[in-house]
Amino acid sequence: LYVDHPLGQGQTIPLERAQAHYLFGVMRLEAGAELLLFNGSDGEWRAEVAQAGKRGGVLVCRVQSKPQEVPPDLWLIFAPVKKARTDFIVEKAVELGVRRILPVQSDFTNSERIRAEKQRAHAVEAAEQCGATFVPEVADLQKLSGLLDGWPAGRRLMFCDEAQAGGASAQAGLAALKDGPAGPWAILIGPEGGFSEAERARLHGFEFTHPVALGPRILRAETAAVAALTLWQSVLGD
Ligand code: SAM
Repeated sequence: LYVDHPLGQGQTIPLERAQAHYLFGVMRLEAGAELLLFNGSDGEWRAEVAQAGKRGGVLVCRVQSKPQEVPPDLWLIFAPVKKARTDFIVEKAVELGVRRILPVQSDFTNSERIRAEKQRAHAVEAAEQCGATFVPEVADLQKLSGLLDGWPAGRRLMFCDEAQAGGASAQAGLAALKDGPAGPWAILIGPEGGFSEAERARLHGFEFTHPVALGPRILRAETAAVAALTLWQSVLGD
């Protein structure tokens, strides 16, 4: 269970109404029951229900069951698609391990808003479900051009370019991932409509770009996100 509270031996955690409802009403836990807690920074802790009530309760931290994990310094940048598919991308990014999730508005983005708060809650749920102790930050929607204007020097960009699908550059792109300097990375996935010519030209001219093809077929954005994350993790991950 994710709690927004410091965790440590003997630490008591007061529960809000919604959490109490979930633990005692839905999960039917009673005083003395054990559960696992994490807060994104103190690792995972075994805790015990000290008080259980309809409107609240108290948990007590006992022992640490997992140290804090810190995923590789990898960002996933993507153009939001329809809600269920955006949810899927956020969920898979948490499962496959990234530090930050950055939704961007590009020239052909068809969904112009994203409910970042909802996506943050969705990231917490995904972390709970997969036993992660880290929850990536979900940034507010921003323009791709603005993100590139303020790009942090040295961060490599794995640019998933559908125009290269099946081209000879697929292997070259992957080799560049391996041979390039270590250091932080970002993966960029475009919207359903792909990238505009202007964006593609800018991205190819950008000094930190490594264009990559994800195979001979054009993948849906959410498939491309999973494929790119898996590929990156297999080449450069821990
Ligand atoms: N409408 C575009 C077209 O028909 O060319 C396809 C866009 S695709 C649905 C969405 C995004 O997934 C692309 O912008 C790209 O980032 C990524 N993508 C999909 N297939 C890819 C491939 N084979 N290689 C590299 N990137 C791919």
